[in-house]
Amino acid sequence: MLINNYFMPNILADLFDLFFPQECLNCRNLLEKKDTYLCFSCLSELPQTHFSFHQGNELEMSFKGRIPIKAATSLLFFEKKGMVQKLMHELKYHNKPKIGTFLGNWLGKEMVASKRFEMIDFVVPVPLHPEKERKRGYNQVHFFAKSLAQGLEAELKEDLLKKIRNSQTQTLKSRQNRFLSKEKEFILNEACEIENKHILLVDDTITSGATMQACAHLLRSVSGVRLSLASMAFSA
Ligand SMILES: [Zn+2]
Repeated sequence: MLINNYFMPNILADLFDLFFPQECLNCRNLLEKKDTYLCFSCLSELPQTHFSFHQGNELEMSFKGRIPIKAATSLLFFEKKGMVQKLMHELKYHNKPKIGTFLGNWLGKEMVASKRFEMIDFVVPVPLHPEKERKRGYNQVHFFAKSLAQGLEAELKEDLLKKIRNSQTQTLKSRQNRFLSKEKEFILNEACEIENKHILLVDDTITSGATMQACAHLLRSVSGVRLSLASMAFSA
């Protein structure tokens, strides 16, 4: 029997699958393809937004008058207690950062096909506070941003923004106040040269948009910067 370096890892992977078969994160049926995280039937029920293909979509409209953006998209609609919430929870709290790769590859293909996200220079994930990242072991947006960068042939840039304060509980009601308190949480690394660049700012779920707005505000303080936004999920 031919045993070489290429063959062995496959045997190990097959053995691993035999003893630890992966289940669909939603219905617990066994998965045929383990890198999808959901079975075919659950996948087909995910609430897709198709925002990538629609100029003037709900997400873009929600930023109107707040920050000038070229285009914005989310892959999925976030619904409380729904499948997307389960996915986000597994991604963040159950050590499954590669769910981000799966969603990023998917959204990346959509964005390329839409031709609305061309000539992006940098993909910038919203950073976590270093202490939080150390505790979790990873930034849940990292693999998502990385696979988007690959799909869009752009550079992943993770040293551009830094989170210097942990989020405060959102007791302030107005959108403007929420933005002002968020803005103090991030700083821009001024050593990075981003003049006249087109930046895709990326997060897991966009809810009020205050985090995106605060980061966007910093990035747009640099001359000629153009911005587009992308996220895994959008909570209307
Ligand atoms: Zn399923």
